[in-house]
Amino acid sequence: MQSIRDCMGRSTLPRLEQQMLWQHVLKVTRVWLIAHDTDVLEPHQVAQYWALDERRQQGEPMAYLIGEREFMGHTFQVSPAVLIPRPDTETLVNVALEQLQHIKQPRIVDLGTGSGAIAISLALARPDAQVCATDVSEQALHVARLNAQRLCGKVEFYAGNWYDAIMGQAAFDMIVSNPPYIAMSDHHLTQGDIRFEPRSALTDEADGLSDLHAIITQAALHLKVGGYLLLEHGWDQGQAVRHLLQQTNYSTIHTYQDLSGNDRVTGGQLLTS
Ligand code: GLN
Repeated sequence: MQSIRDCMGRSTLPRLEQQMLWQHVLKVTRVWLIAHDTDVLEPHQVAQYWALDERRQQGEPMAYLIGEREFMGHTFQVSPAVLIPRPDTETLVNVALEQLQHIKQPRIVDLGTGSGAIAISLALARPDAQVCATDVSEQALHVARLNAQRLCGKVEFYAGNWYDAIMGQAAFDMIVSNPPYIAMSDHHLTQGDIRFEPRSALTDEADGLSDLHAIITQAALHLKVGGYLLLEHGWDQGQAVRHLLQQTNYSTIHTYQDLSGNDRVTGGQLLTS
C-alpha cells in the first residue's frame, strides 16, 4: 500500500512535474494533493502514475502527458496533433488585441490555428469579432473545435492550406498566423519537447521563411485596405519579415519582442490592395 508521499520519494522528476502528473491521475487540485499526500492510493492509480513518470523520463512534453496547457489565462486541450501553445505567442495575441482596439466587429482570420489558441483567445477577448481559423490538418481542427466548444469561443473553422481554406470569403480586418518557421536544418528540431511535436507545425522543410513568404505575398487578396497582417517568426527573422512586408506594400511596419526580449512578432498595415 502506497501513498503519494511514498511515490514522490522514489521519482527523480522535478517535484512540480510529479505534482502535475498526480493531479492529472487523481483529477484533483494542487491544494487537495498537498493535504492528502499520505492517503493510501489504489494500485491502478499508482500504476497509471508510474507509466506517465516513465514517459516523462523519456522526454515527452508535460502538456501532452496531462493533455492541456494554459494560454492567455485559458486552459487549452492539446494532443500530439498540435503544437503546444507557447508564452511567446501571447505576444502575438496581445499585439493583435491592441491593434484591434478601435475597430468595431473586426473580421479576423488565424491561419494554421493548431490547437486554436490564438483564434479562441482573440474571440474570447473580443466577443464582437468574427473570427475564422484554418488548418491543413483535420486532426488539428478537431482539437481546435473541441477547445472552442469547451471555452465557449465563437470561431468558424475551415480546412485547407493557408489561403486555400478561405477562398472567396469577404476581406478581413486582420490576418494573424504563427506558421512553421524553423529551418529544416535547425538542430533544435531534434532536441527536447519539440521532438514530440508535429514537424509540419514547426518547419517548412526549407529555410524557415517559405511559409512566411507565402502568407505575406498573398495576404493583400484577403485584407481590407488598412487591414493588419501580424506574424510570429523566429528570433532572427525580424529583418527578413519586415523586408518582405515593405516589398509588398505595407506601412507602419513594426517588430515586437517576446518575454525574453527576442524579436518574435512583426506586423504591418496594407496600404492599397
Ligand atoms: N516558437 C516555436 C519554437 O521555437 C516554433 C513555432 C513555430 O514554428 N511556429 O519552438
